[in-house]
Amino acid sequence: MRNKVTVVGGGFVGSTTAQRIHDAGLADVVLTDILEGAPAGKALDMAESAPIFGSNAHATGISTGGGDYKQTANSDIVVITAGFPRKPGMSRDDLLKANYDVIKSIVEAVVKLSPNAILIMVTNPLDAMAHVALQLSKFPKARVIGMAGVLDSARMSAFVAAELNVSVENVTSFVLGGHGDDMVPLVRYSTVAGIPLPALLPKEKVDAIVNRTRKGGAEIVNLLKTGSAYYAPSAAVFEMVDAILKDKKKILPCAAFLEGEYGINGLFIGVPVKLGAKGIEQIIEVKLEADEKAALDKSSASVRELVTILGL
Ligand code: NAD
Repeated sequence: MRNKVTVVGGGFVGSTTAQRIHDAGLADVVLTDILEGAPAGKALDMAESAPIFGSNAHATGISTGGGDYKQTANSDIVVITAGFPRKPGMSRDDLLKANYDVIKSIVEAVVKLSPNAILIMVTNPLDAMAHVALQLSKFPKARVIGMAGVLDSARMSAFVAAELNVSVENVTSFVLGGHGDDMVPLVRYSTVAGIPLPALLPKEKVDAIVNRTRKGGAEIVNLLKTGSAYYAPSAAVFEMVDAILKDKKKILPCAAFLEGEYGINGLFIGVPVKLGAKGIEQIIEVKLEADEKAALDKSSASVRELVTILGL
């Protein structure tokens, strides 16, 4: 029997995530949105591409506008992308209150029908929305994971590969911290074919890459004008879903609920984790230099501010 993944929110990130999972035949996919017709239309369109891709996965699209989530029952993973994307000039944090109510209604509905699922949160502001999902689902912390670090690290790797004119396959980047403008790209732990980045690029080039990574989301928002990134975000979710469903024990940077790790308590922050069938199977703690720890603390203070506004 194939696995089942529900993707809540059939907008740009949600539909491309569902498409990637479906096309790879990784799992049956249920795409939901409050919109009438659109999720069913997108799922049918995906199903009609299956003979071309040779995917045997099923795609179903449902409208949950009336509150009916029955077809999501017994999902192995629920990816939540519903909400409002950032508009130009809008910070991720402006989205906070608008998306809180959306996440609340969704989490309460899906966890009743899929009590053993792993939740992957995507909606921004990411770390705060993951916190909302953890509290409302009452799931163990291993089963509520935020997607941000995989995306931010992929952006950094893309910039490094372009700068050095090397294969993206040679580059490993590690971006930690909250998914905000003060995220923490860890240069020392970023490598090209095992060689630390500072050994290959002068400091000003590294600094420029770090800066561009931090503003990677905004760069795309400013170009698109009417929405935010979705190809790389959906690829990042796909990598996480793949690691979980195949029990890969893959180490990826994800937002995890910290209880003392990295000196942070009671917050979702991006850190390296081991992803497997049980969700977050381990939080990997690496030693940080004083300036890296200070940057992580600054980033976590921004997340704490949002969580405090929400009264969590
Ligand atoms: P989008 O506007 O294209 O899609 C959002 C969809 O959610 C819409 O189709 C809307 O109808 C739907 N929706 C709203 N309320 C809903 C509800 N209660 N139930 C089901 N569906 C509902 O936006 P997008 O570009 O797909 O982005 C989605 C979210 O993901 C945004 O919050 C965005 O900021 C975030 N995002 C996060 C990351 C990350 O790194 N974590 C990256 C990209 C985007």
